[in-house]
Amino acid sequence: MEFRTVGVLGCGLMGAGIAQVCAQSGYRTIVREVDDALVSAGLGRIEKFLAVGVKRGKLTAEDKAHALANLSGSIRFEDLAGCDIIIEAIVENVEAKRQAFTTLEPIIGRDTIFASNTSSLCITELASTTKRVDRFVGLHFFSPVPLMKLVEVIRGLTTSVETYNDVFEFAKSLGKEPVTAPDRPGFIANRLLIPYLLDAVRAHESGLGTIEDIDKTMTLGCGHPMGPFTLLDFVGLDTTYYIANIMYAEFRDPVYAPPPLLKRMVLAGRYGRKSGRGFYTY
Ligand code: NAD
Repeated sequence: MEFRTVGVLGCGLMGAGIAQVCAQSGYRTIVREVDDALVSAGLGRIEKFLAVGVKRGKLTAEDKAHALANLSGSIRFEDLAGCDIIIEAIVENVEAKRQAFTTLEPIIGRDTIFASNTSSLCITELASTTKRVDRFVGLHFFSPVPLMKLVEVIRGLTTSVETYNDVFEFAKSLGKEPVTAPDRPGFIANRLLIPYLLDAVRAHESGLGTIEDIDKTMTLGCGHPMGPFTLLDFVGLDTTYYIANIMYAEFRDPVYAPPPLLKRMVLAGRYGRKSGRGFYTY
């Protein structure tokens, strides 16, 4: 299948990045948000990211202009009608995702593929909320999407071989390095990363060290590009909390249980960079 037009649901941290790389890769890209302010904010972030790229010599002013010409934002589901593939990147909640797919299904073409950027939800379950269980796949990007090369491509129990192969090739066409990951909570990356991040919060809660010292230990002592608390603020404490709950519900293993401090920070609205305060203040 040849992809020409890509729809992206959500223009938050991940949706904006996904829309940007699709537009930069030459696809006509339409990103849908819930209101005009969020559309403008998301498109504004993309423009800023591209402008910084031009300033640093990573891309030319023409590359930026081409990418922006390929990109549009909307609050109307109807504007995604002509898309060959729709990548969903909205809140990590089955019901919210189901509602979005159900609204889109009568509008879009029979062959349109749904891809979900979910971090932890079951791809087979998300597919089952649609009438295109064979044309549903997991496509898990990493943040910041324009910079991170990896994409996990996840085959649900009902995903057809053709859909899987087409989406795997599509990921390559975005300049990404796809890997095959299983339809298990957290796939490969979060299966390993989430217990580490939660353990860092638990360690801090139990007095192992300050946030700064734990981050410093992992960067300067272990060579990580950033410490766990800096990373948590990037990922979003709310998103991490949803992921941990989903993984804990499935595996029933305490390593995935969200620590009390994480829950309280989310309840206090300290989501990390996106809300101006998480473990650090921005
Ligand atoms: P976010 O909170 O930054 O953005 C989500 C956006 O979706 C919000 O702007 C919201 O207004 C919008 N939205 C909600 N319902 C919508 C709808 N029906 N139609 C269109 N837009 C809608 O969240 P995020 O970090 O971008 O995460 C989005 C998805 O990507 C989640 O499933 C998450 O698990 C996954 N993910 C996140 C990361 C990460 O590092 N944060 C990495 C990989 C995958």
